[in-house]
Formats: sequence, C-alpha cells, structure tokens
Amino acid sequence: MANKNPKEERTYVMIKPDGVKKGLIGEIIKRFEQRDLKIVALEMFQPTREEIDNHYPKDAVWITRLGEKTIGTYNKYSFDLMEDFGTIEPEKIGPEIRKWLVDYMLSAPLVKMVVEGTHAVDMVRKICGPTFPYLADMGTIRGDFSNDSPALANAEKRAVANILHASETPEEAIHEIEHWFGKKETHRYKRHGE
Ligand code: ADP
Repeated sequence: MANKNPKEERTYVMIKPDGVKKGLIGEIIKRFEQRDLKIVALEMFQPTREEIDNHYPKDAVWITRLGEKTIGTYNKYSFDLMEDFGTIEPEKIGPEIRKWLVDYMLSAPLVKMVVEGTHAVDMVRKICGPTFPYLADMGTIRGDFSNDSPALANAEKRAVANILHASETPEEAIHEIEHWFGKKETHRYKRHGE
C-alpha cells in the first residue's frame, strides 16, 4: 500500500558491484540528495547467495521476460541463440540470465539504502536511467557512468552491469525494504527548509 503523505514515499536502492568498484557511492548519494530526496537508511554489506536469490523474482512471468529481452538483443544483432543457449525458448533462456545476475551481484560488497521524498520511486528511477546503460540519456547515472549493453554482456556470458538497482513501484519498494532492512532502523529527520 502506498504511503498517504507524498513526502514520505520511500524507495529501495542498492549500489551494485560495478557502482562500488567504480567509486560511485558518493556520486550516487549526491544525485539523490541534490534532488531533495532524503537518505533515511544506509549500509555497506556482503550479501549471501540466498539473500540475492530471494531479492529477484522467481515467477515464470519475470524470468520469461528476462529471456525475451535477450532474444530481442540476439535478433537485433543477428547473434545465434542456439549456439549460446542451446534453445530459442525465453522460459529456458531466462533462468540462465537470472543465474548470471545472481553471480554478478555477489562479486563485490553492495551498498543498500532507503531513499525518501516526493515521488521517491519514480524520481529515483528517472535519476538512474533505463536498464541498459548504452540507451540511457546523458545526465542519468547509468548514462553518465556506463556504456554496458546486453549485446556485450550476453556475448561475455554475464548480466548487464548497470551500477545500481532501484525499486520499480511503491509496493515493490515496501517489499524490498522489508527484505533488506527487516527490523533495522530507518531514520526520521527534517531536511533544511522542510
Ligand atoms: P531493472 O534493474 O532496471 O529494473 P530488470 O528488472 O529488467 O531491470 O532486470 C534486472 C537486472 O537484470 C538488470 O538491472 C540487469 O542487471 C540484468 N539484466 C536485465 N536484462 C538483461 C539481459 N537481457 N541480459 C543480461 N542482463 C540483464
């Protein structure tokens, strides 16, 4: 259920291994804060495989969608799905991409945070830019700091490295904040001028 006070909308953000290794922790926080969003919880941690596995959806629709995206990339660039995956079925390709994603997320410590403010979910997604960095506009985090693409990533048998994760809907944010912070404290304070 979405929060009643628009100023108190919260979203979950996780800086991925490439974001941490590129030294972008401060830059990312800066971009949220300069847009009047509040950091109300923050921590660096090394996740377990189980935690990451439970973070990403396991339902057939989500997994098939991952497979379909890869099929789209392969068709666009005339790559050979049979050669790389031994199948052309999205429901069989999706689990492979999901496995690459879990491996990638375990390859370095992550930074998790809860970001609060008006339209926090949409605003943070806008600041991040779309999933594939090579399509992200300049001025977004993904557009400014990465050129990764599924064509390159899939050829190298890995997930697309796109610097950070951010919840897609307020409902997903509530679920992800509960998953990653549980009973841990989030903070309340007024920003200057509030
Ligand atoms: P987002 O993280 O932008 O919400 P998705 O939920 O669609 O995007 O995908 C989850 C993550 O899986 C992406 O952030 C990216 O790291 C990876 N990913 C998505 N699609 C592909 C793909 N076709 N090939 C490799 N990795 C992918």
